Amino acid sequence: MTSGGLKNRNELTTRAVAAREASVSVSAVPHNTEEHKISGVSLSRGLALGHAVLYAPHVADADILADDPAAQIRRLRAAAEGMHVAIDRMLHHNATPPAAETRDILEAYQMFARDRGWLASIEQAIQRGLSAEAAVHHILEETRTRMTVVKDVYIRERLHDIEDLSHRLLSHLKQHSEGGEQAALPEEIILVAQTLGPAALLDYGDRLKGVVLEKGGYSNHVAIVARSLGIPVVGQCEDALRFARSGDHIIVDGDRADVYLRPSQYEIELYTRSLEARAHRTHMYRNLQQQNQPSVTKDGVKVSVQMNAGFLSEIPSVLATGAEGIGLFRTELTFMGWKKYPLVVTQAELYGKVMDRLGDKPVTFRTLDIGGDKPLPYFQAPFEENPALGWRAVRIGMDRPAVLRTQFRAFIRGSKGRDLRIMLPMVAEVAEYDRARAFLEMEKDRARNSGIPVPEKIELGVMLEVPALLWQLETLLQTADFVSVGTNDLIQYLFAADRGNDSMRRRYDPLSPAMLRVLKTIADQCRAAGVPVSVCGEMAGHPLEAMVLVVLGYQSLSVTAPQVEAVKMMIPTLDTGLLLPYLEQLMKSREHSLRERLLSFAHDHRVHITQDI
Ligand code: PEP
Ligand code: MG
Repeated sequence: MTSGGLKNRNELTTRAVAAREASVSVSAVPHNTEEHKISGVSLSRGLALGHAVLYAPHVADADILADDPAAQIRRLRAAAEGMHVAIDRMLHHNATPPAAETRDILEAYQMFARDRGWLASIEQAIQRGLSAEAAVHHILEETRTRMTVVKDVYIRERLHDIEDLSHRLLSHLKQHSEGGEQAALPEEIILVAQTLGPAALLDYGDRLKGVVLEKGGYSNHVAIVARSLGIPVVGQCEDALRFARSGDHIIVDGDRADVYLRPSQYEIELYTRSLEARAHRTHMYRNLQQQNQPSVTKDGVKVSVQMNAGFLSEIPSVLATGAEGIGLFRTELTFMGWKKYPLVVTQAELYGKVMDRLGDKPVTFRTLDIGGDKPLPYFQAPFEENPALGWRAVRIGMDRPAVLRTQFRAFIRGSKGRDLRIMLPMVAEVAEYDRARAFLEMEKDRARNSGIPVPEKIELGVMLEVPALLWQLETLLQTADFVSVGTNDLIQYLFAADRGNDSMRRRYDPLSPAMLRVLKTIADQCRAAGVPVSVCGEMAGHPLEAMVLVVLGYQSLSVTAPQVEAVKMMIPTLDTGLLLPYLEQLMKSREHSLRERLLSFAHDHRVHITQDI
């Protein structure tokens, strides 16, 4: 980083004053004392209750100008040293050691903290007359201006790290000793920030329960690390820092993407009960596990409940939840944490470790589903008006065969001869499946020729997410080894309703006649063709929806870790023979949603549906 472009002290002062005013405005706005709800975007699921800790710069009360640059530089260097020591301590002595993919991100951050260019440009600004605080803020503003116009997602992502480090440096300048600060912090912390670097999640150890961000997207490093640590995060909460006060009670509902500031006693009780219910369910469920109760319906239909994952660190959850395996391993999530496109050996190591740690439990690897809402920082993609309908997933593999072929190569190497299950996301036509299959055959030949063990059984399946494929299903089923329905995207494309747009996402119900008829068609055709079919979209993780899916003929569901138990508890209480005729009737209905009717059925027939608030 450089401080280039500064002409004189006046210009510097004007900019620093403007920057300080921007910062002051955060704390100068009279704080609301009333209950306030902010809806954002879910970056990491889960529920948390706690007290607000505001993560904001401390430049507001510092002098802007200073007459003794040498003294300011000494202060800056001492603060930087304090910050380096604190970051090193945090990364190496944290109670919960970060998982490998998380560590990569954090180490990049640590290196950045020691970046001489950054500190040198702050010192240059001090030489021109600013106080250390104002200089840090000035360089941050300058970098922000330069970086927000950059198209490269990786470089833009670094801005969060720079913001985070600047805030950290400012707090060291204010001589807030970390120990002192933490001692005054609440026991259950909800961090409220504009943006955060991933390291901030480790600052508070187990006391950090949830995060509220004014900005932030699903692919931000902080979101990736939070998901891996199981910390709920709601992003894009407009004006959260303006409305929140330090110490406020806060509820973070990462499932619904809602944040409640200063919630009413009623809401606190409601959410506390929901957290308790979750804990109780886990307890009951663990007992169920101990009794080794299988997932079989009352009328003898066996259902395999598997888990969705994307990080190695999630594998212990497969074992803890009693999931039968991983029904969807989203390979792109680990790619998003890497700093550059991984070599085949790096990928193979990951896939091999996933298989090693799962033991004899199966895993279905999905090939890269990048593009859309999941850009890879180091993978250049064209700008698109409509990324969800754009160059993504298997389409990239069709146009850049090396992407798909190297991934197949890595699966084969990582498997070390063990059976493989691979599935292709966003297939829209049979020709795409055939081409991918040809690539796989090429990679099998290549491995054989190089003396690398090739699994006897490699199944290549398809994610059914694009409606066009429904009209080629019969043809597809002649060759596809299995089908997994990606309901998240299938609903989005079926109803032409953006899954990233909250009001559209909630507008159409998966339990609507149209969606259920589509799901029935898929299940019936797969059964007739003798091809295994499962559902791995979010829909399968909600007990009421799972009840319907099982009745429609889906005997394999893959859901997130926290949902495994709720679904496994529903299955033994369901009699599919009782619901099927009623469901067939309901599907002919003209209603918007069948949810209420299905809930009443479950209630009347004592099907165990856990309902979170
Ligand atoms: C889906 O679309 O249902 C799915 C499981 O894939 P993703 O959510 O990763 O797009
Ligand atoms: Mg999808």
